[in-house]
Amino acid sequence: MWCWRVERPGPLATGPLRWTRADVPAPGDAEVLVRVLACGVCRTDLHVAEGDLPVHRPGVVPGHEVVGEVVEPAGAFRAGDRVGIAWLRYTCGECRYCRRGDENLCRWSRYTGWDEDGGYAEYATCPADYAYRLPDGYSDAELAPLLCAGIIGYRALKLAEVPPEGRLGIYGFGASAHIAAQVAIAQGVAVHVVTRSAAAQALALELGATSAGTVSERQPEPLDSAILFAPAGDLVPAALEALDRGGTLSIAGIYLTDVPPLAYERHLFYERRLRSVTANTRTDGRELMEFAGRHRLSIATTPYPLDAGSRALADLAEGRVTGAAVLTP
Ligand SMILES: [Zn+2]
Ligand SMILES: [Zn+2]
Repeated sequence: MWCWRVERPGPLATGPLRWTRADVPAPGDAEVLVRVLACGVCRTDLHVAEGDLPVHRPGVVPGHEVVGEVVEPAGAFRAGDRVGIAWLRYTCGECRYCRRGDENLCRWSRYTGWDEDGGYAEYATCPADYAYRLPDGYSDAELAPLLCAGIIGYRALKLAEVPPEGRLGIYGFGASAHIAAQVAIAQGVAVHVVTRSAAAQALALELGATSAGTVSERQPEPLDSAILFAPAGDLVPAALEALDRGGTLSIAGIYLTDVPPLAYERHLFYERRLRSVTANTRTDGRELMEFAGRHRLSIATTPYPLDAGSRALADLAEGRVTGAAVLTP
């Protein structure tokens, strides 16, 4: 098969990825083998390629938003099923975090496209227990971004604890945010989007947001909850200040620039909460796939042929992609 491997992690300009032939991977015990139908391009792939994340598997095939057709079945999946492979692919099941339902915090967790080969390839494997059933009514390319951007946004929304018919602020409006916003709107929440991009503001309003503006504009109403998607720590004070008493701000990103000093009275008092979001559990993923089956989400994608994987990553790095970049073999 053809695949991309991270041969020499480093800046994209130095060509860290190589387009190469490899054997079709042999599935392990209780693993499915899938023919890749689509694989989303996520910012984490960029961190793997550029070496910001330490090398866990030399020459790894990146990609963890994989939609595939089962070729070799395992577990509950049959040949021909359409399944999703996501970032999380192993947890120990025995540690204190796993036992209390927080497998996203497991210290022994393993990840697709970092610890094991991912979906920038014609074939990929996955433990059947960590693969997802996918909803009908979507193309392969539309489903791919749900598997990381969608699931992380969904968890961030859960942790923001928006009350029924509450008011939610969303700071930053990329692939993850545009899915989380639609889930919130479908739940009857009033969504207020903050982003510098005029195109993103227009998209937010089109998807049903109540308002869209920049951070220098005052929120039209106090917020019960907020989610910070932009990796900008200097937005934290503004987002906290926009919260009503008892409100929660969740931070969706893995990376955040430093948060400036907070003033207790102005930013935190009246029981406002600030929390981070780390990866996801399989329950989060299953809940989102079920939700997407009941509510038609609109997912913006930009297609690339599989052999243009390196160019898709460069476009993502340079901010040239509208919607989510998706590779299709
Ligand atoms: Zn564990
Ligand atoms: Zn990702």
